[in-house]
Amino acid sequence: DPRKEGIASSIKVVPHVPKGGIMFQDITPLLLDPKVFKDTVDLFIERYTGKDISAVAGIEARGFIFGPPIALAIGAKFIPLRKPRKLPGEVISEEYVLEYGRDCLEMHVGAVQQGEHVLVVDDLIATGGTLCAAINLLERAGAKVVECACVIELRELKGRERLKDTPLYVLVESN
Ligand code: IMP
Repeated sequence: DPRKEGIASSIKVVPHVPKGGIMFQDITPLLLDPKVFKDTVDLFIERYTGKDISAVAGIEARGFIFGPPIALAIGAKFIPLRKPRKLPGEVISEEYVLEYGRDCLEMHVGAVQQGEHVLVVDDLIATGGTLCAAINLLERAGAKVVECACVIELRELKGRERLKDTPLYVLVESN
């Protein structure tokens, strides 16, 4: 699909951000081009329309950019999965290990129903730790995660393998 080439070429690689040795993939130039931004969202919408998905869960922060337009287009609700202490109501939390230290995702109790079919959206998969935590959180709440969707996959880090039985769909691969 030629749209994927436009998406790939609009992602900017910024060396040594947030620290030395890391090649940060910056999706903000993609958002500045309305055609490429629309192509990105459209590719997901085409894949998930008519697929029996009633909820889209977006991971803070960049999953909040791509998740809501997908949810609206396919007629699903949007669930924000947030960093700690951001949600005001009762939450369930899932801690996960980062390269240095720990982080946590939280979701409001009652956001999903038992057996509800959920799509998880983020901008990028690296080690897969974040998506894995999102899947665990949703499954603990009784939901079924039908797929994870990201704009970019960093193939070398093999994050896909950590998702086990949950399929992963990406638009662009990078090393
Ligand atoms: P993982 O948990 O190692 O798979 O890291 C993925 C999470 O970190 C996602 O929420 C991404 O938004 C963020 N992330 C890691 N590396 C990058 C990057 O190069 N660009 C943008 N986001 C990144």
